[in-house]
Amino acid sequence: MSTRVVCAWCNLTIRPGDSGDDDSSHGICFDCVKALGLFPTEDVRRLTAEELDRLPIGVIELDRDGVVRRYNEAEARAAGLSKDQVVGHHFFDEVAPCTTVREFQGRFEEMRRSPNSCREELDFVFHFATGDRYAHLVFLWDPEAGRLMILADLMGSPSNHSARANAIWRDS
Ligand SMILES: [Zn+2]
Repeated sequence: MSTRVVCAWCNLTIRPGDSGDDDSSHGICFDCVKALGLFPTEDVRRLTAEELDRLPIGVIELDRDGVVRRYNEAEARAAGLSKDQVVGHHFFDEVAPCTTVREFQGRFEEMRRSPNSCREELDFVFHFATGDRYAHLVFLWDPEAGRLMILADLMGSPSNHSARANAIWRDS
């Protein structure tokens, strides 16, 4: 039995499996590799810390309790925080109090109860010390590892967002 692989960022099916919709792993498709400068992979969880730091999008990985386990350079730069200030700290209580709203923390609370891997998207405005940043977010829940990976395209403004979205879809 093989597991279906879908793109973490755009949800395209990379490899159809025979495991049905309830069980899929998350990779990155070639269109997103081209459009976003991401790495081709069939499992985003396997990206090393060095690879995460080379991504143009922010990555925040939380454990089941909401404690930050991995945090990359793009996110650190946008938030104006060092990794030391973030990793090992509680994301909602200590790192990003602006995310303690239903659409963000509420979604984490729902996803972490799910026995299946799942993926959700939302648009969100982070209130960083460096200013407000509009972001398109993808949440990936992995129940086996007990980790929520958050991918954040920190585009600055909604108009940049639509330009980026067009770039992704244009040549697929
Ligand atoms: Zn994709």
